[in-house]
Amino acid sequence: MLYNKYMIKRINDQNEMSIFLSDESRRTGTAAEICFPQTAGEISALLREDINTPVTIQGGRTGVTAGAVPESGIAINLSGMNKVLRMPFAAADASSVSDTGSVSDTNLSGSLTAAVHPGVLLTSLQEQLHPLGLFFPPDPTETTASIGGMVSCNSSGACSYRYGATRNHIRSLEMVLADGDTLSIRRGEHHTKAGRFALTTDGGRVISGTLPQVTMPNVKKHTAGYFIRPDMDMIDLFIGSEGTLGIITSIEIDLLPEPKHLWGAVVFFETEESALRFVHLLRDEAPAAPQAIEFFGIDTLEMLRGAQESGAALTGMTKVPSGCAVYTEFASKNREDLEPLCRILGSLITEAGGDPADSWFAFRGPDMVRLKEFRHAAPVCVNERVSEIRKSHSTITKLGTDMSVPDSRLDEVFAMYRGDLARERFQTSLFGHIGNNHLHCNIIPRDEEEYLRGKELYTCWAEEIVRMGGSVSAEHGIGKLKTWLLKKLYTKDELGAMFELKRLFDPQLRLNPGNIFGYNIQEK
Ligand SMILES: Cc1cc2nc3c(=O)[nH]c(=O)nc-3n(C[C@H](O)[C@H](O)[C@H](O)COP(=O)(O)OP(=O)(O)OC[C@H]3O[C@@H](n4cnc5c(N)ncnc54)[C@H](O)[C@@H]3O)c2cc1C
Repeated sequence: MLYNKYMIKRINDQNEMSIFLSDESRRTGTAAEICFPQTAGEISALLREDINTPVTIQGGRTGVTAGAVPESGIAINLSGMNKVLRMPFAAADASSVSDTGSVSDTNLSGSLTAAVHPGVLLTSLQEQLHPLGLFFPPDPTETTASIGGMVSCNSSGACSYRYGATRNHIRSLEMVLADGDTLSIRRGEHHTKAGRFALTTDGGRVISGTLPQVTMPNVKKHTAGYFIRPDMDMIDLFIGSEGTLGIITSIEIDLLPEPKHLWGAVVFFETEESALRFVHLLRDEAPAAPQAIEFFGIDTLEMLRGAQESGAALTGMTKVPSGCAVYTEFASKNREDLEPLCRILGSLITEAGGDPADSWFAFRGPDMVRLKEFRHAAPVCVNERVSEIRKSHSTITKLGTDMSVPDSRLDEVFAMYRGDLARERFQTSLFGHIGNNHLHCNIIPRDEEEYLRGKELYTCWAEEIVRMGGSVSAEHGIGKLKTWLLKKLYTKDELGAMFELKRLFDPQLRLNPGNIFGYNIQEK
């Protein structure tokens, strides 16, 4: 381990570096060294050491698209920038902000904010907020994600059905740009005018330009390429830009009061048709808006049962039954609301073809934690299985879809996945954020031949989903592994125009090379 004149911790020993050379995509990269700055000033100093060195930024490395995996140059790991810089003053403030419904109600008006370093982990933030009766709503399931990583990917998760993605909860950002200069941007202060923008860095440099004319898909969840709208707040360009425009060093976030009564249910069905029917009933007829509506296909419950039987997951839990399931979560202010809500939920379950007596219900406390554990076990088990297969087939990476469609296309996309999977006889796991028409359809290839066939099928699905008006990435971003998908969504000219935007902020193209655009966009 080395310390340079700024006392920045750096490692360049191959053994020590190895765990920092991959993320949850399980792809492994290479780097000259991994640096662990603790301040924005130290990041600036690192960037100014050699203006041409490629830099890969790392948060919690829970990303699944290899965005934080370095392939040359240095990696800047932000795990040491892990302080909550400012907390809201008192829980009493919470009563002044509504804890119901849409984020736009609360996004800019409430006074409940905190400021954090980018390396603060979601789990740590929530632990510190809990005694104040507050929480940070974005919920990317994986709680060891860092807040900087969540902003960079515009992450979302189960509870985004109610609260929206990370973007909706970000008030201001501080960033170090590629040349070491810094930029602060606050929501509401930098709107584009007829697509034009001008931002002044802390060093006095003006970065100005015109946004490309790109139309994003009209879906509830989308994080593929840059966020671009004709009249937009420029802070939104940086959210979801996957570290290609700047290194986020401080984040001001909006908080909400923790719901007083939180309860959840896992409802089991024999057939996926019944589960789908229940999803529609929940969306259209539930007396209160659920926080989350998540789906677990027949293949996914089978995988979870296997993991449970082998003792790999869900050990302290009732045996996972066969069939499929829908997980839903409700929040309410008053305990009295619960009983009628449960009664109505019971009749919706029956109407869809299920039996309330077969369902698991949890009313806060340890039972609720167990339900969330059940929810989280699905992606974890898929990642574990891919890791197992990679031991004998090292070129295989996860083939999991992350695509979303408009409401009206949910049944169509579901039938497409199931029809194609049945024909191809892959090992699969279908689960995910069905409330937002966003399913993770995972093909778990047994060998390279299946991997290539699976990738071909994935490409066809992406084309179909774009045709349906959907997005090729709803929450994981593009990283280095999904650049081929972005080309299904945007034309070469549109991508070229986005790339020119990157060049304005990063003329040497040194920040997170390979992310979003791949390595040789000019030639393609
Ligand atoms: C089991 C499992 C379940 C998951 N479920 C979900 C889910 O439901 N929803 C979801 O959205 N995601 C999910 N993910 C993916 C992942 O957790 C999220 O993308 C998360 O936000 C990544 O955060 P991180 O700190 O780990 O970022 P990293 O993986 O470290 O980085 C992700 C990207 O952000 C960039 N980055 C990180 N920090 C900064 C910074 N400070 N400045 C600029 N760029 C930066 C990196 O360079 C990289 O491109 C899941 C992952 C796992 C393993």
